[in-house]
Amino acid sequence: MKDKVKIPEPEEGLKFIDVHCHLPFPRPKKDQLPSNEEQYRDFFEKGGLYLITCSIDMSTLHLILDFIKDKKNIGFTCGWAPQTVTYTPKDKYQKEWKEWINYIKSHQDEYLAIGEIGLDFHHAKTLEKRKKQVRVFREILELTKDFDKPYVLHVRNAAQHEYDRENPKNRYNKKNGANEEIFRILGEFNINPRRVLWHCFSGPEDYGIILPKQGFMISVPSSAYGYNRWRKVSKNVPLQSLVTETDSYYQHPYLRGPLNVPSNVRYAIAAIAYSQNVSQEIVSKKTIENAKRFFKLLID
Ligand SMILES: [Zn+2]
Repeated sequence: MKDKVKIPEPEEGLKFIDVHCHLPFPRPKKDQLPSNEEQYRDFFEKGGLYLITCSIDMSTLHLILDFIKDKKNIGFTCGWAPQTVTYTPKDKYQKEWKEWINYIKSHQDEYLAIGEIGLDFHHAKTLEKRKKQVRVFREILELTKDFDKPYVLHVRNAAQHEYDRENPKNRYNKKNGANEEIFRILGEFNINPRRVLWHCFSGPEDYGIILPKQGFMISVPSSAYGYNRWRKVSKNVPLQSLVTETDSYYQHPYLRGPLNVPSNVRYAIAAIAYSQNVSQEIVSKKTIENAKRFFKLLID
């Protein structure tokens, strides 16, 4: 569904930070992606200043720890994604969950943030599965609320056709069910919104205004370049509340499939500049400042 609007390409010489990608990550068979090392090199050759890669469970955490050894200007976040909650086989879950908890407690100097964590009601369609995601999200906050670490959230509402037919009246089915539940829980745990980044923000549009007003940060994916749906939701977010990401290998600027690479974060800058009618240079400058502040990045 690529829309027809012609948006200017990212300009030469732009500087950028990718606050959320998955490198390395288990790859689909026969993918067309460059090697992990090439993706890392290409990112800095094209103007990257800092790259943040995101783990979602124990195995991606191990991949990342191995990859970043001896590398500069790359950091990582420690996530236990809602998909991990839903899809990890029962026989592995408890063991890996314990390992993960031990890791985040005892290695706080090594990672930048807790995340991605959150709720994904597209991947959890029954009430039981949704409740489990909610329970785990709360457990993670309980455990980490006093850590000096920001949070990276993954929040996805159920689509209209994804409502839980057995429990049609349940609030999780609502159009904005996952967002509202996250809000409720963050409030309950007294989490300062300034500590919280909504990764790959997907709306609704009024949340693009409500969230920044409360101090939350919002991350725009590279796919905002080619898909109006993604652009619309960040159109009215003040620049001081925005950062940029690729979520690669997902969220390619205009193609479908596992094709995205971190250097394409330039397209998120081009998308924001276009929809907010400001120069790409200003967007680059502001989003870099914001990312540095939010994650306390030290750049060599
Ligand atoms: Zn992600």
